[in-house]
Amino acid sequence: MTFIQQELDSLRHRGLYRSMRLVEGAQKGRVVVDGREVLLLCSNNYLGLADHPRLKEAAIRAVETWGVGSGAARLVSGNMSLHRQLEERLAEFKGTEAAILFNNGYSANLGIISALVGRGDTIYSDRLNHASIVDGALLSRAKFLRYPHNDVDGLRRLIETNRGSGRQLIVTDGVFSMDGDMARLRELADLKEESDALLMVDDAHGTAVLGEHGRGSVELSGVPGRVDIQMGTLGKGLGSFGAYVAGSLELIEYLRNRARSFVFSTSLPPAVLAASLAAIELVSSPEGAELRQRLAANTALFSRALTGSGFDTLGSTTQIVPVLVGGAEQVMEFSRRLLEEGVFVQGIRPPTVPVGSCRLRCTVMATHDPDELADAAARIAAIGRDMGII
Ligand SMILES: *Cc1c(COP(=O)(O)O)cnc(C)c1O
Repeated sequence: MTFIQQELDSLRHRGLYRSMRLVEGAQKGRVVVDGREVLLLCSNNYLGLADHPRLKEAAIRAVETWGVGSGAARLVSGNMSLHRQLEERLAEFKGTEAAILFNNGYSANLGIISALVGRGDTIYSDRLNHASIVDGALLSRAKFLRYPHNDVDGLRRLIETNRGSGRQLIVTDGVFSMDGDMARLRELADLKEESDALLMVDDAHGTAVLGEHGRGSVELSGVPGRVDIQMGTLGKGLGSFGAYVAGSLELIEYLRNRARSFVFSTSLPPAVLAASLAAIELVSSPEGAELRQRLAANTALFSRALTGSGFDTLGSTTQIVPVLVGGAEQVMEFSRRLLEEGVFVQGIRPPTVPVGSCRLRCTVMATHDPDELADAAARIAAIGRDMGII
């Protein structure tokens, strides 16, 4: 199979070969990477819930009661009372009529989009949307149109010129995963109402983190009730694993029947469900509000230090703080040098981001020590100056 070797060689030549760093222990502010303790600055465990005692305890208790595996897909025998409880809790949390679980965000987007639109329909997708949205769109066979990032006027023109006869679906990340900026949800909601389209928001990075109650970008933007399909994940801010869609009872019933990644896959296991339930309780409690406040303060400190040093952070307003570097080799060298200095951040390259916009994707956590974040920002600046980036 010479093509495999050729393809791997080509990736290496172009600086696009991917390998994995080995992390030992839980996703804390400091972790052991390749045998050395370093600052963890690239985890999506934003609130530090992944090893919170209450989540761990809930998971352990669930294993003792329910065992480890769920045994089957939901529609066969794998529908436990924990699944129903978590769906009811998610609907309450998001303020919608109903919710449905998916096994992860990637398969949720495949299932949702391919169930809602098909041949003869049109999908309008922000150019920077997550890969799983793109893959869901391709799977659906609907016409797939991408609009310039966050350009609502551009989207309006695209809808006017392409006005098809089928269903129209506008889909956007709530928080853009590699840029850390937010979608213009109010304007998108206005436009979807004008143009009689459906609006779907993927809030993988807003859930638990944004809004007064941690309900995400939809809450922060003041548009609850105006977004038809609210998708989010349980594995990032909520510290567990899995994904959900919150919406009308009709939508949820439809997805239960038509979303193939829901129908044809073994359901989430008990430990994960119980941990997710505990996570939502925590996020909705005063402790959750305090964690969000700490995250916001850490983010402000870290972002300000980087922009003050002259870095381009691509307009990020959230805990995802990109540091624009440029080339693939350059970003990997930057990441390597930072790790040597005790700071673990991954370089992000194509196809995850456009060619020439390789970046360090720094993610801040509520559990980071502010002094350590300031120190990391200073180290990033020193290397950036040395490499001629700032
Ligand atoms: C991480 C992510 C997903 C995928 O979610 P998983 O649960 O990790 O599969 C989907 N959409 C966005 C925007 C993401 O960042």
